[in-house]
Amino acid sequence: MIQKLIRRLLNKKSAAGGQATILPLRKHGITRDRISPCALKVCEELRARRYAAFVVGGAVRDLLLGAEPKDYDVATDATPEQVRDVFRRSRIIGRRFRIVHVMCGRETIEVTTFRGQAAPAGGDEDEEDDDHRKSDSGRLLRDNVFGSQFEDAARRDFTVNALYYDPTKQEVWDYLHGMDDLKRGVMRIIGDAETRYREDPVRMLRAVRLAAKLDFKLDSATQKPIRALAGLLQDVPKSRLFDEMLKLFHSGHALASARRIREEGLHHGVLPLLDAILEQPMGERFITLALQSTDERVNAGKPVSPAFLFATLVWHEVLTRWEHYQTQDLRPLPALDAAMDDVIQTQVENLAIPRRYTAGMREIWSMQPRFLQRAGQRPFRLVESPKFRAGYDFLLLRCASGELDAQVGQWWERFQFADDEERNRMLIKDEAPARKRRRRGGKKPSAAVPAAD
Ligand code: ATP
Ligand code: MG
Repeated sequence: MIQKLIRRLLNKKSAAGGQATILPLRKHGITRDRISPCALKVCEELRARRYAAFVVGGAVRDLLLGAEPKDYDVATDATPEQVRDVFRRSRIIGRRFRIVHVMCGRETIEVTTFRGQAAPAGGDEDEEDDDHRKSDSGRLLRDNVFGSQFEDAARRDFTVNALYYDPTKQEVWDYLHGMDDLKRGVMRIIGDAETRYREDPVRMLRAVRLAAKLDFKLDSATQKPIRALAGLLQDVPKSRLFDEMLKLFHSGHALASARRIREEGLHHGVLPLLDAILEQPMGERFITLALQSTDERVNAGKPVSPAFLFATLVWHEVLTRWEHYQTQDLRPLPALDAAMDDVIQTQVENLAIPRRYTAGMREIWSMQPRFLQRAGQRPFRLVESPKFRAGYDFLLLRCASGELDAQVGQWWERFQFADDEERNRMLIKDEAPARKRRRRGGKKPSAAVPAAD
């Protein structure tokens, strides 16, 4: 109790630096019934115990833009332990940021205690100040001090992500002119852009991803340092980078995001291959089509498999290696194996794609030569394979990009729905290579199509 009182007093003092503009319902239009029942319950129960509790971050931003939030975050002045005590179905997670997951039914709400601001980059690395430690490049290693609500707003990434919604009073609290930026469609980083990117280079990716998702402009000071600092992404733990890329590709705006990542010069840190692939006309078409169809699936509420997605992103690298090994006198199938090994080792590990996805990627790739074997029992077996659908969708992208003759895809489209009699009539003996010529700076056409052996 005393602890809480002291913190309240401290909060008041530090909050003096920043006054929120409090917007009533008529100024923002978000009624409490638009909030997810779980987030509403979390806020109400915390309020009932006299804690502050606000929906914050992307959910408020998306609601203000008329979109359905993907997930809900709640910010409070209760400590993680206090939050844990209020909700039976909750658990404290995380080491760097201790947050509480509160579960209601299938929904999970992330509850965070208001956090203090990070120490300025290059500032004193006080031994005692262990909770604000930074690496040599200025990256925050820990950031786990409690603070006032204003400080909590100021340590968020963009002004449009630092709006708080109080469902009890139906008010929006705005400390940093986030509402103005939201109305103007501007992503503006909070504080000095370079410092904030050095603290956490992932903010550069988030800037680009969110700008693409919201169709916002990057404010010029927010955009300016990105190209020069892109290399800092190399320091970010690979698993975090992978999670961020997954979010990007699942956003429903994968194509727009990938384009903006390239425009800002950020892809060297995350997808070093992208340039090489996109320089080949067929590679560019293939990836564009893959990302387009991913966006269509996400926007239609259909699931997207990460293995499929990552298999598409590096496919043209697999193709290049596959051709290379065949010129080294390897037969097509062992050559494909060797190519997959190379790509998994060199490119995929750059992004730290977890093993559980690489197995799926291999499966999709190794199925590809089998689509060109349309005699005997082979097509019957292939169509029954549990991964047929993924392999077939991948094949269709290859046809659509011009890498393979469209008739191969059409044949499989018919075959999978035909009865046995028709299937038998469809079989193709002594299949000729169906692979189209790939033009690469005058190189001779590939011989990557394996014979039906
Ligand atoms: P999305 O629509 O992808 O969920 P989001 O902005 O909600 O976007 P989350 O990862 O859910 O993204 O983060 C929730 C909030 O936490 C953000 O809105 C922002 O206020 C804060 N935040 C997230 N990542 C960072 C970061 N790297 N630095 C500072 N604040 C961050
Ligand atoms: Mg979110």
